[in-house]
Amino acid sequence: MNSITKVLIANRGEIALRILRACKELGIQTVAIYSTADKNLKHVLLADETVCIGPHAPVMSYLNVPAIISAAEVTHADAIHPGYGFLSENADFAEQVEQSGFIFIGPRTENIRMMGDKVAAIEAMQNSGVPCVPGSNGSLGENVIANIKIAKKIGFPIIIKASGGGGGRGMRIVESEEELSNSIELTKTEALSFFGNDEVYMEKFLKTPRHIEIQVLADQYGNTVHLGERDCSMQRRHQKVVEEAPAPGISEELRNQIGSICTVACKQINYRGAGTFEFLFDKGEFYFIEMNTRIQVEHPVTEMITGIDIVREQILIAGGEKLSITQADVQIKGHAIECRLNAEDPKSFMPSPGKITQYHAAGGLGVRIDSHIYNGYNVPPHYDSMIGKVITFGETRNKAIIKMRNALDEMVIDGIKTNIPLQRRIMTDKTFNKGGMNIHYLEKMLGKHE
Ligand code: ADP
Repeated sequence: MNSITKVLIANRGEIALRILRACKELGIQTVAIYSTADKNLKHVLLADETVCIGPHAPVMSYLNVPAIISAAEVTHADAIHPGYGFLSENADFAEQVEQSGFIFIGPRTENIRMMGDKVAAIEAMQNSGVPCVPGSNGSLGENVIANIKIAKKIGFPIIIKASGGGGGRGMRIVESEEELSNSIELTKTEALSFFGNDEVYMEKFLKTPRHIEIQVLADQYGNTVHLGERDCSMQRRHQKVVEEAPAPGISEELRNQIGSICTVACKQINYRGAGTFEFLFDKGEFYFIEMNTRIQVEHPVTEMITGIDIVREQILIAGGEKLSITQADVQIKGHAIECRLNAEDPKSFMPSPGKITQYHAAGGLGVRIDSHIYNGYNVPPHYDSMIGKVITFGETRNKAIIKMRNALDEMVIDGIKTNIPLQRRIMTDKTFNKGGMNIHYLEKMLGKHE
């Protein structure tokens, strides 16, 4: 029996609406919290109860832990879903939620903490048999000679990364021995100012890898399944722009091999909930880089090819239910692509907030729009520029791409600029159509003239 009857959604935008929809389908009441800039958000208008928790600045609202917990108390919610971003991977928040008597819809606090510390995460993954990038196996000390020795053993180029890093920040590529010490110092200083922790480590820099990640689900009783992989190699400044599942060229055998390594690791660390193992994939080998202990933006492509509602599963698991599916039940069918829609100039990438004066969404068989925007909605300037996602499903990759081209052509979003022209260009790009691009391809494509 599920013990959750009312969920407080500690997020905004499309993911808040996604969570609200899953709750409604499960017959669970919803509480929307919002900042003063967000009173007209779609999910706020649809939720059973709403609480304004503060001004627009995220620190005063969506990151304001006491305000969120008070909102859960006054509305008698029994669980809190953090979505992605904001507090979703903040172990202290998860701990406070649980200590205040609420269910945190996510993993155990110790797993969030472990994965937030990349040195600890890599160590735990190595111990669980997950392949990692050759590296320093621990944080770097002050000894210059020792560091040079580690780098030489790995082989240049190497990348120095902040243990507490995230969002693609706090990383530096080093080509030669001469630059090493200086680069370590610079990355440490940056790491301290961005993440409050100057611990850094070293990894081999893989020149042309693909980004492939494995989605897992685990219940509280040690049952674990993987839902296959997603290819998120189309990135700009380490931000994903297009995602797809399955990843072109990954055989069923390889999928099951890496997938079962991930499920074994979940059991070893006693993981609970939904999670994603992120890998760089190079010359046929997987190299773990990090684990995300939350729902991800790109989860819909996996839902489309497996028919499994990941947000629903997150809620059921948090409510104490056993996984209703076994690995044998997970059947991958067809191909799905997701294009992120951003309110931004498609060429300069400058954010373009403002009022949407005209909105028509694409539709039809195999077209899914996860978005909170509507006619007359005002995109506030204070938050991430993502305004939704278009997801298409087809029997084959090519059919999913054709559907995406048509869907993008059907979309009308007036009043603000969006990256739809860029997404259209990607969908007709020859190399993208072949598939299997590496993580630098999009930036290379953008560098070329149209
Ligand atoms: P973050 O948590 O900041 O996203 P990640 O460890 O996931 O950090 O790395 C972000 C991106 O940086 C990767 O998707 C990849 O593009 C690049 N990257 C990280 N480690 C390496 C590596 N060892 N070799 C090459 N590129 C890397």
